[in-house]
Amino acid sequence: MGYAEQYRRSIEDPEGYWGELAEALHWYRRWDAVLDASKAPFYRWFVGGETNLCYNAVDRHALGARRGQAALIWESAETGQSRTLTFFELYREVNRLAAVFRALGVAKGERVIIYMPMVPEAIFAMLACARLGAIHSVVFGGFSISSLATRIDDASPTLIVTADAGMRKGLPVPLKEIVDQSLEAATVESVRHVLVLNRGLAPMAMREGRDLDWAEQLKEHGGKSVEPVPVASTDPSYILYTSGTTGKPKGVVRDTGGYMVALHASMSQIYACGDGDVYWSTSDIGWVVGHSYIVYGPLLKGVPTVVYEGRPDHPDPGVWWRVIEKYGVTHVFTAPTALRALRKFPEQWMRSADISSLKLLFAAGEPLDAPTYEWARATLGVPVIDHYWQTESGWSMLTNPVGVELLPVKPGSPTRPAFGHRLEVVDADGNPIPRGEKGFLVDHGPLPPGMLMTLWNDDERYLQSYWSHFQGKLLYMSGDYAIQDEDGYFWMLGRADEVLNVSGHRLGTREIEEVISGHPAVAETAVIGVRHEVKGEGVLVLAVLKQHIAPADQDGVAREIKQLVRERIGPIATPDAVHFVSMLPKTRSGKIMRRVIRAVYQGDTIGDLSTIEDDATVEMVREAVELLKEDL
Ligand code: AMP
Repeated sequence: MGYAEQYRRSIEDPEGYWGELAEALHWYRRWDAVLDASKAPFYRWFVGGETNLCYNAVDRHALGARRGQAALIWESAETGQSRTLTFFELYREVNRLAAVFRALGVAKGERVIIYMPMVPEAIFAMLACARLGAIHSVVFGGFSISSLATRIDDASPTLIVTADAGMRKGLPVPLKEIVDQSLEAATVESVRHVLVLNRGLAPMAMREGRDLDWAEQLKEHGGKSVEPVPVASTDPSYILYTSGTTGKPKGVVRDTGGYMVALHASMSQIYACGDGDVYWSTSDIGWVVGHSYIVYGPLLKGVPTVVYEGRPDHPDPGVWWRVIEKYGVTHVFTAPTALRALRKFPEQWMRSADISSLKLLFAAGEPLDAPTYEWARATLGVPVIDHYWQTESGWSMLTNPVGVELLPVKPGSPTRPAFGHRLEVVDADGNPIPRGEKGFLVDHGPLPPGMLMTLWNDDERYLQSYWSHFQGKLLYMSGDYAIQDEDGYFWMLGRADEVLNVSGHRLGTREIEEVISGHPAVAETAVIGVRHEVKGEGVLVLAVLKQHIAPADQDGVAREIKQLVRERIGPIATPDAVHFVSMLPKTRSGKIMRRVIRAVYQGDTIGDLSTIEDDATVEMVREAVELLKEDL
């Protein structure tokens, strides 16, 4: 069956389509209904079914034919360590840690925050949660105090799992210390314990009674095996926070059964990956790609997954190519930012490693520009597949489904809708617009399995953020601009909301603005995403200073603003430029004219002034442009 036929079936008969795919996995209890759309847009998959994600990802292979096969391959370019675990060894480690969690009282439905570097133990922790039916919430180890504290407050975890430190370019990032400070800043008092992996990288203080040493706990409780706890297909497996348009991140809630079925199917359909392959997603477990394709996707499929701690260019720009050679990696999934960064270095770095095992390269997270695509295609000599998805979707929404059929590639387009996704480009009223015209990318329900169930503790915000953009029409708003061309291919044109995409990672302008407003010299600030050669989008800060600040002090304040953002949110959010202006250009209702600022800063044509901001007169926009030009 080719793409067109299979896609049609996924749309016309979703229950038959996904029901068949679910048969490949283990269920303690079979579902009563494949799909319950009665409370749309709260779609529920495999209702009545009971399963366990950890059982399907680990036990199914460890207690079967793949027992001795590699499951997890860890390579740390930061510490020079590596470790390979077979499925059986992974099974044993996950059991030991699940026994510790159980001894600490972690029960089904409770939240566990995992704030860890890219080490095998982080993945044991995720799987141990899944084994017990606890809900994990992984927080990216590059996020800092404010980001972690808001997530603690929202998820109210009983356990936090962390390490003394992660490593970034050879320097320790003191994760445990950040946990301590975040717990000070958080308001909830739900946390009973902090379990700490001591890698011997950074000093740390342990608080008696609350903080527990990983190795000691394993010694005390780790001898036992723990039966997987059957959970409802519709029970949440995890919460993953992502940036929205307010200062408060959104807690995307994933189900268990639907996610499992969609990921398992995607490994063959979308990635053409199976027995004999080695999969490497260069992402981090703190992002959705890491959840789906460092951990659950490959393991559900019984394919070894590479877990990599480090960067693409440290200690040198040949390090990724050597990892491919060392482990015979067949599939790489990375971000365009990394490709753009690697492209800058001489090709000899790539040529010095034998990367002939590589079959396919995948990219997602931000637009894959045509020159970078062409470069990767030509130098790697394998198909390069751009696919589009979001934290909310859990797996791809637009793709070139190479496992089913490699459709002709149009560089710069993530191709066509993934199975089950009824995507369309619409105008501001939600009406379909002609091919070739720019509009909003929307998804019609029922959303396929694996997509978000809701936002944690906030059904109302789920409805408001995703389903209320078009009056009288129930459409899922992706938040992105898109064009669909004559051939049905989609082209992504960036966010339609105030969300930044820095190196493929979503950051909210408001989150950053709130931190900067905390600087005593700042009266008002606006954060804008602007074009950046490597990162896709860079962070531009405009700030109005309080009157008493002397011009001579401005450089110092700019440095402090950058430092503050690094410290509070994390290095990825560090502003690329800080400019002080006399006033921020705003519309009548006080909305910052982001498009105008961006255009002026980038030197783009500003376009039709009358339509550029919803709520400003042409005169206002013109004045703002003039003032801004003077200030910048
Ligand atoms: P995140 O939720 O952090 O994964 O960010 C999702 C956002 O990244 C999407 O809404 C898009 O704006 C952008 N994005 C992801 N994949 C692509 C892609 N292949 N092409 C263009 N934009 C993408």
